Amino acid sequence: MSKPEKVAPVGTCDYCGKGIPVGEWWTSKGRPRLHCSLECRQAANSRKMENRAEWMRERIESGDWVNPATINKPTSETISQNSRAARLREEEEGRWRNPGITPEARAKNSEPHKHTGLLASAIEKMGRGAKLKELPEDEREAYHVYARQLRSARKDEINQQYRERYRRAWAAMTEEEKETQREKWRQQNRKRAQKKRK
Ligand SMILES: [Zn+2]
Repeated sequence: MSKPEKVAPVGTCDYCGKGIPVGEWWTSKGRPRLHCSLECRQAANSRKMENRAEWMRERIESGDWVNPATINKPTSETISQNSRAARLREEEEGRWRNPGITPEARAKNSEPHKHTGLLASAIEKMGRGAKLKELPEDEREAYHVYARQLRSARKDEINQQYRERYRRAWAAMTEEEKETQREKWRQQNRKRAQKKRK
């Protein structure tokens, strides 16, 4: 939808028709203010949304509407471009706030560290941009142990997903399909046994 256009004369509320306080006739963007109060703005918007819902229903029923996601699929490239542009715009307009200084982030950052000792100092240094090979040997070793644990934990998780997917696929097969699959396995086993004997 296009930018809202002023219907009533400047300084008059588009919804209730009463006057807008003199100092507030224009928005900070330099456009004429549409409504005298928050209540009027909300009421007007909800009425507009009702109209819009009706308009959308008509378009869908007549087949005019195309889901924009199918025309312009978001890719990781466009997503990161858009979020970068949004952040730059916020900075330019002076609206950008360091996400680290919100009360939630402060609370989280003041929690005790998840890791301690060598591992904690290794992770902290790498968080500040140090390379693994630049760390002292004991910290590097602590990090290697940790990374190995992470990998094997993830392997269990992935195996678990495979098993579940397999179980679902098997449950969805007909008896005939299951028998075909069993026959394949028998053949594979026979081949394997032959190879062993050779
Ligand atoms: Zn009003």
